[in-house]
Formats: sequence, C-alpha cells, structure tokens
Amino acid sequence: MAEKNVFEKIIAGELPCKKVLESPDFLAFEDINPKAPVHVLVVPKVSIKDFNAITPKLSSDINAFILEVVQALGLEQKGYRLVTNVGNDGGQEVPHLHFHILGGAKLTWPKLH
Ligand code: AMP
Repeated sequence: MAEKNVFEKIIAGELPCKKVLESPDFLAFEDINPKAPVHVLVVPKVSIKDFNAITPKLSSDINAFILEVVQALGLEQKGYRLVTNVGNDGGQEVPHLHFHILGGAKLTWPKLH
C-alpha cells in the first residue's frame, strides 16, 4: 500500500491537527500555514485524489458539511472564499481532495499562492 499523504495521516490520527468540526465522513481543521485570518481545510475521510474524482453524492454531502463549518466559524454573513486546487496547474500540493475556507478579512488577492 502506498504511504499515506499528510491528510490521510491526520484523518488516521497519526498526525495532530487543530480540529474545527468532525462528522463520520468529514473532517475540518485549521491550515498549518494560513493565508487568511481564518483558513480551514475540509477533507472527506475516504481517499479521493481531487475534485475530478468527486461523485454527485460526495459533492452533495461535503457541501452540506462545508456549510456547517462556515456556520461554526461565523463566516456566513461576512463572507468567505471556498477554493479547491486541482493538479499541477491548480497548485495542488496534497493529493487528497480538500476545500479551503478562507475568511476573516476582505480577501484581495486572486490566488492562494
Ligand atoms: P493545496 O495546495 O491546495 O494542496 O493545499 C494544501 C494545504 O495544506 C496548504 O495550504 C498547506 O498549508 C496545508 N497543510 C499542509 N500540511 C498540513 C498540516 N499538517 N496541517 C494542516 N494543514 C496542512
């Protein structure tokens, strides 16, 4: 079996994270290198490489979880940015589907990097 990537290790409890919210299927935790005052990552617990591999059921379920996280963070009214990077040109570093929730300030830059 291939070695786990960093998010798979976090999901397995082999690496620590600053947890924001968890459900049986999803985990939200703080980004270790935040690009905004609030920067939270949402991952499915199943291993899915990127948004290209998302199914309609997973898409629907993760959207509902993301909205729960947004509410828990208190970002719903002020706004936030929701980003998923895909592949090389998208700047994806970790090959496990994840959504960035960025907020806590007016975001002025067009990209994360
Ligand atoms: P991406 O470039 O879309 O693949 O984003 C990967 C994100 O994971 C980056 O924003 C990193 O700062 C973040 N990251 C990497 N390792 C960790 C970690 N151990 N805990 C939390 N966030 C991490």
